[in-house]
Amino acid sequence: MQTSESTIGIVGAGIGGLVAAIALRRAGHDVVVFEQAKQFARVGADINLTPNAVRALDGLGVGDAARVTAARPSHRISRTYDSGEETSRLEMADSAEQRYGAPQLTIHRADLLAALADMFPAERVALGKRAESIAADDNGVTLSFSDGTSARVGALIGADGIHSGVRTAMFGAESPRFTGIVAYRAVVPAERVAGVPNLGAFTKWWGPNPQSQIVTFPLNRGKDIFIFATTPQDTWHLESWTAPGSVDELREQYVAYHPEARALLDACDTVLKTALYERDPMPAWAQGRMALLGDAAHPMLPFMAQGAGMAIEDAVVLSRHLDGVAMAGIPAALQAYQTARIERASQVQLGSRGNNWLREGGNADWVYAYDAWAVPLGVPAQGAAAAA
Ligand SMILES: Cc1cc2nc3c(=O)[nH]c(=O)nc-3n(C[C@H](O)[C@H](O)[C@H](O)COP(=O)(O)OP(=O)(O)OC[C@H]3O[C@@H](n4cnc5c(N)ncnc54)[C@H](O)[C@@H]3O)c2cc1C
Repeated sequence: MQTSESTIGIVGAGIGGLVAAIALRRAGHDVVVFEQAKQFARVGADINLTPNAVRALDGLGVGDAARVTAARPSHRISRTYDSGEETSRLEMADSAEQRYGAPQLTIHRADLLAALADMFPAERVALGKRAESIAADDNGVTLSFSDGTSARVGALIGADGIHSGVRTAMFGAESPRFTGIVAYRAVVPAERVAGVPNLGAFTKWWGPNPQSQIVTFPLNRGKDIFIFATTPQDTWHLESWTAPGSVDELREQYVAYHPEARALLDACDTVLKTALYERDPMPAWAQGRMALLGDAAHPMLPFMAQGAGMAIEDAVVLSRHLDGVAMAGIPAALQAYQTARIERASQVQLGSRGNNWLREGGNADWVYAYDAWAVPLGVPAQGAAAAA
């Protein structure tokens, strides 16, 4: 793969890395994405995209492709786990579209990745390239890969997820923290649970403690219902999109829940299980010719459904800071990007940890009304450009 000190390298072809690749290319840059996987695989299940994320995708031109298989939840409903009492109901769909310029969409993660990959030249995605060492100097960044090859770029974006090696190269090693929470994910055909009310809505059943919840919403244009359940469990540490869990265990964990919630668990044939990890907010994401975005910068618990949304926002705002900027101006532009994004993403990261978002209703505007294509650009932190 041909690169030079005029190339912007991105490590990671996840949601954040691909959105950044498309947007940076549109901003006039030569971009190469280095991805450790040998091919794009259809893993994971849902991704819940709130209006802030959908509007950012619309501005990128990928919204129509995303809508082909997505579902559009009618409401966002909160219910109490045992009594079933409804504690809040927010209209989504048309109301969200009118209020925020975009709806909420729920989509298979692989469909979103495929829609993004279609918008970026495949020949500029280097698959099977696991970055193992990263060394930056005044003029660029040199990457060495596990297959023995190397590449030189003028700037590097770390979009390499929660275990980011770019982050380690920039700020030193520090492991993500196991939260003591596991998540179960399952998909059931909607026709099998047709008697359960509100299947077209995003429903969150708030459990007896902040770690316990069941979230359900439509997937695949409403043909399926996605179930996302979390519970405290400190004996399971495996982080995986594909590891199977036990359906019996799933049902046991939620015996105290309302029959309408349990009916969905009863309908599951299989379930996937993963441990949830997170990190504390960072004081900085940019340094010299390198910057982080998405989970590499701010991995968060899924309780506000904003991890991918924040990665998408980061990528769009990053591209606006780098639009038309020559390589000499990159360090200052990356500092300005950090200023523009770090406070919001950190706030969402902490809010996700608190897991109280919209429990009793309230105004969702500070999250949903954010327009990544229009927010003011940041300025470099005082003295940071000189230090960079
Ligand atoms: C159970 C669960 C449910 C979730 N639900 C939602 C939701 O409903 N809505 C939402 O917005 N968010 C959700 N999230 C969060 C969301 O999945 C993440 O925030 C999002 O995927 C982050 O995207 P990313 O591009 O930053 O990182 P990732 O998706 O982790 O992508 C990183 C990429 O980098 C690659 N990579 C890693 N290391 C290297 C290396 N050394 N060299 C080369 N490539 C490398 C990886 O292979 C991967 O392709 C959920 C998370 C979990 C765990």
